[in-house]
Amino acid sequence: MPEVGDLIFTKSKIQMNNNSLFNYSRLKLAITYAGVMGTTLLICGYMAHIVMVQAFTRTVDRELELFGKVFEDQLKTELKIPGELSITTQKSLPGICFKQQSCLPIKSESELLGLLVEGYYLRFLTLSGEVIAAIGNNPDEFPPNLQIYPSYDIKNRNGELYHLHLMPLKINNNQLWGYLQVGRSVQRLNDYMNSLHWLLGLGVPSSMIIIGGAGWWLAGLAMRPIKKSYQQLQQFTADAAHELRTPITSLQTIVETNSINPETQKALERQIKRLVTLIQDLLLLSRLEGGLQEAKLQQICLNDLVADVEEELMPMAMDAQVLLSSHIPDQSDFYIQGNESQIYRMLLNLVSNAIKYTPASGEVNIHLTTNEHQGVITIKDTGIGIPNSDLPHIFERFYRVNADRSRNTGGSGLGLAITLAIVQTHKGKLEVQSHVNKGSTFTVILPLVSKLNR
Ligand code: ADP
Repeated sequence: MPEVGDLIFTKSKIQMNNNSLFNYSRLKLAITYAGVMGTTLLICGYMAHIVMVQAFTRTVDRELELFGKVFEDQLKTELKIPGELSITTQKSLPGICFKQQSCLPIKSESELLGLLVEGYYLRFLTLSGEVIAAIGNNPDEFPPNLQIYPSYDIKNRNGELYHLHLMPLKINNNQLWGYLQVGRSVQRLNDYMNSLHWLLGLGVPSSMIIIGGAGWWLAGLAMRPIKKSYQQLQQFTADAAHELRTPITSLQTIVETNSINPETQKALERQIKRLVTLIQDLLLLSRLEGGLQEAKLQQICLNDLVADVEEELMPMAMDAQVLLSSHIPDQSDFYIQGNESQIYRMLLNLVSNAIKYTPASGEVNIHLTTNEHQGVITIKDTGIGIPNSDLPHIFERFYRVNADRSRNTGGSGLGLAITLAIVQTHKGKLEVQSHVNKGSTFTVILPLVSKLNR
């Protein structure tokens, strides 16, 4: 049989597991965030790269075509036999250099030829793509274009990158003579692209680190409320287990000693009652978290309810020698919409607490009034009061101002948590004011649905 103590977890262990669990989830979120952003950056960078290269290639092709067109027009009338350059043609092209010839540097007599000095390239190819001659450059600077590629990039002997563009050359009768291949150096663009690659190569990982850090911080921020409610839940589980332990241990001892005399019987009944109340309270609390059920909603007359609570608790007050009184307006009835048994339970909790925590010959007064659209119920006692440091916690589950003192009153520490949950599900407000040794005032404010004059 498992020991009841087995149910209780050590708080530090829960805390440690919580922290590592949250840090793990936080890390996972930060990594996912950085991964998603990094991939997006990479895709964007790659797309920008493709678009830039395509745009540049198209511009260079157009430029080369215009450049070639000038020569094409000049040569149209001079070209006679396919694949052959006549002497007159050769003369009209200063700086022309044939295969296996030593080429002289070009003298820029015209603006056009001047361009050839500035990284432009021009050569004549046969119909099969063999090189015949080049202008101002060595014809063997690049291999022949036997596949007749229309345009491509290639490195020259010095390792400089060129873009070459092919144009058909025709003779007078529209017959194909061969090809004119024009090209220009794209080394600058290539260097520029290389720097972009470097930028992407270094920028993406470093931005991923920055995004990861921001993600870690943001995930921490977003998880803070979840962490808090998770801790509250853990705390609640630990407290509930602790609360259940005492009656179960007592029952265990009684059953184990096997001596059921009338006195033991009474103790047994008391513990069972305590357990049943505790479990009912826990169930009520979890049901309250689900909100109000439409089917159980009805119009409740606050005047009647306050009178009923007073009547029910009168014997308890008399036993405690506390003077219980009420002030209920008799000219009109105040109605709210809600769950009657819950509202009754809420008032019962507040008034019974007031009696429990008021010493003999003290007073407890229930006052019902309204402001414009709200019913206001005030429960005022002249009891022991609540220290200021405890006030923010009294609505927490299982919280007791002084555990021993409360235990004598038979409370479990769930009363005010249930009271607050009921008020909140009815869209109301619960306020408390208290002074040690002077007394406490709990004020419940609930939205009214109607006010009927008698
Ligand atoms: P319990 O069931 O122990 O009474 P509650 O949730 O009803 O638990 O109340 C929480 C704590 O608030 C109590 O332990 C008690 O110390 C304090 N308390 C509640 N009502 C009053 C009151 N009217 N006067 C003084 N202390 C109060």
